[in-house]
Amino acid sequence: MNILILGSGGREHALAWAALQNPKCDKLIVAPGNAGIAQIATCAAIDIEDAGAVLALAEAETIDFVIVGPEAPLAKGVADRLRDAGMLVFGPSKEAARLEASKSFTKEICDAAEAPTAGYAHFTDAEKAKDYIRQQGAPIVVKADGLAAGKGVIVATDVQTALDAIDDMFGGAFGAAGAEVVIEEFMAGEEASFFVLCDGTTALPIGTAQDHKRVGEGDTGLNTGGMGAYSPAPVLTDEIATQALEEIVKPTLRVMAERGMPYQGVLYAGLMIKDGRARLVEYNVRFGDPECQVLMLRLGAQALDLMHAAAEERLDAAQVNWAEDHAMTVVMAAKGYPGSYEKGSVIKGLDALPEDSSHMVFHAGTTARDGQITATGGRVLNVTARGATLAEARARAYEMVEAIDWPGGFYRSDIGWRAL
Ligand code: ATP
Repeated sequence: MNILILGSGGREHALAWAALQNPKCDKLIVAPGNAGIAQIATCAAIDIEDAGAVLALAEAETIDFVIVGPEAPLAKGVADRLRDAGMLVFGPSKEAARLEASKSFTKEICDAAEAPTAGYAHFTDAEKAKDYIRQQGAPIVVKADGLAAGKGVIVATDVQTALDAIDDMFGGAFGAAGAEVVIEEFMAGEEASFFVLCDGTTALPIGTAQDHKRVGEGDTGLNTGGMGAYSPAPVLTDEIATQALEEIVKPTLRVMAERGMPYQGVLYAGLMIKDGRARLVEYNVRFGDPECQVLMLRLGAQALDLMHAAAEERLDAAQVNWAEDHAMTVVMAAKGYPGSYEKGSVIKGLDALPEDSSHMVFHAGTTARDGQITATGGRVLNVTARGATLAEARARAYEMVEAIDWPGGFYRSDIGWRAL
């Protein structure tokens, strides 16, 4: 099978690594890729949000299967264009990708599916939104409707903060994404991520994870794309996962199919767990980054078969070979991230690290220059390890982190603290 993966992060490095574990993978192209991916696959420098460019590359390379990593090409309809041309694609249509791209769309689908989630109201008028906030009181959550790269959500502990958020959003702080807002009931609890492969009708869970969004130790400081993750998430017990599958994911799939936009790809449900029950916080229409890294290390070669089965609509006959294992990834970021940071510092010591089914360093923001790996992004490396216990996975991951010689980088030393 000739495979094309779209994306350039640690997530796509992990997807590429998993695909290469599978003997069915004959050729692997990643577009645009990064320096770590270039060590294991051919990288193609194209604009992956340009459907025409992606299709031309896929045809030129006689690709059999395209895996879309990030949400932006999905929201732009790249998967639709490829499918129209007869390509087999892993990833939802533009219409179905609205489960991530529009919060009001997701809330409406949840209503129709009777899926447990926060109560909400939807506004296109700032004054009406403010009246509603005054009436509801705090804590309350204000969300810009569209994609705002994780920055369009304000969890307000007092009414004034929520009112200010409305002014910011309608004042254009989030561009077009802020012209509509969703105001939600605040849900208390512990968050965890639930990953389910979908083929339009069948849902197959492939694992759970938790991540650390804040930059500082003890989950303090600014929000980031994620500073580390581990799988499985102990808070998401088998019982709660079954409840989330039956009450949230399956009814969502049913409603999507009934409305003529069957969902195919990975559905990543962000859940809030309290008193033994899960409620939906949000859907994402792609793997999380860095959660994908821990899932791929745990699934290994079968990940490709499962994604292929989802794309070919034969998940009803597929199954996951579960291992009793744990994985952790520690993100190494450039000093200053998530604020401004320097680019171009040299990273040493990577060559001496083990690379096997229990140890992998997935690259995110790296570039190869004069035979050296340099840091060119905010989040730069995902140091990932597997073990029989989470403590073992953690010890292995941090042993690798400490062996990496990169004075320009930093990492959190407490990934997994809640679970350990
Ligand atoms: P991202 O994709 O970066 O997680 P997003 O912009 O898609 O962000 P959400 O996931 O909907 O936004 O919200 C971001 C975070 O805000 C959640 O992970 C959660 O911690 C918090 N949050 C969102 N909605 C609620 C809610 N109703 N109650 C409590 N916390 C919430």
